[in-house]
Amino acid sequence: MKYVVANWKMNKTISEGIEFVSMLKKENLPDDIVKTIIAPSFISINPIFEIIKNTKISLASQNVFYEEEGPYTGEISPLMLRSAGCEYAIIGHSERRILFNESNEIIFKKYISSKKNLLIPIICFGEKYEEYKKGATISVINDQLELFNNENNIIFAYEPVWSIGTGLIPKMNEIQNVIDYVKNKIKNSVVLYGGSVNLKNIEELAKIEVIDGYLVGGASLDLNNFKEIIIKSSC
Ligand code: PEP
Repeated sequence: MKYVVANWKMNKTISEGIEFVSMLKKENLPDDIVKTIIAPSFISINPIFEIIKNTKISLASQNVFYEEEGPYTGEISPLMLRSAGCEYAIIGHSERRILFNESNEIIFKKYISSKKNLLIPIICFGEKYEEYKKGATISVINDQLELFNNENNIIFAYEPVWSIGTGLIPKMNEIQNVIDYVKNKIKNSVVLYGGSVNLKNIEELAKIEVIDGYLVGGASLDLNNFKEIIIKSSC
C-alpha cells in the first residue's frame, strides 16, 4: 500500500475543503493501492469527515498536543482529534520545528501520546540546506530520530527542509539512501517522501521502489494535480 498525504497547511476555508473532498470522492481513485489522506486545518477536520466517512479517504491533523486534557489553552489532544474523525497526525513538520520551536523531545512526546490514543503518527524529519551541502544529512537524521531507536512500525515522512515549497528535490539516489537508512534503523517503518512533489517529478519519484508514498504540500491544493499524483503513485 502506498500513502499520499495532502498537507494543506494554513490554506482552505471549511467550505473550500468540503468542496474539494466532495469532488475528490467522486473520482475513480486507485484506493486498493493508494491510501489517500487529507490533512486540513483543525476546524475543517470534522466537517470534512462528514463528507468522506463512507469512503476510503482518511483524515490527518497537521499537529497535535501531547497532553490528554487540561489547562493548555489553544491546544488539541489526540482524543479530541479522534472524536472528530481523524485517524492520523502529522508530527514534527519542519514548519513546526522551525517556526514553533518544536524539539525532538516534544515531537517524541506527541508521538507517544498519539499512539496511546490510537491516532496514527506520521513523523516528519529532514535536513536543512547547509546540512545537505556539508554532507551531514544522515547525521542530522540520526539526531532527529534518536528517540525512536527502540520503536518500530512507524510512518515517517522524509522532508528535506530545503525542498519544501522550493521546486528543488534531492537526487533520486540520495532519497533512496535516506529511506534505506531509516528502514534499516527502525524496523517495519514506512517512509514517505515530501518536498516539492508535483506532476513534473512524480513519475521519476515513483520509480524509487523503497518510497512508500508522498507528503504533498502545494500540489495538493489543486484537485486535478492532487488526483493525478494519486493516480501516478499507483503505477
Ligand atoms: C510539506 O510542507 O509538507 C510539503 C511537502 O510542501 P511542498 O509539497 O509544497 O513542498
